Amino acid sequence: MTSTTGATACPHCGRPDGAEPFQVVSRHLTAAGSTLWTRCACGSLQVRTADGCGTRVVSRSRPT
Ligand SMILES: [Zn+2]
Repeated sequence: MTSTTGATACPHCGRPDGAEPFQVVSRHLTAAGSTLWTRCACGSLQVRTADGCGTRVVSRSRPT
């Protein structure tokens, strides 16, 4: 069972952040874990942070 940090979903297409088949654009290691740049199925670019508790979306752009 993966822990979640709340019921967040893409505001542009409504897909749940944890369920959508998002595409990983790039990955950067940080002191706290890693930062993932992902793209939603609707084209919105998302910034996710990953740590020992899972991942969460911290920023997103409009669909391109
Ligand atoms: Zn979306």
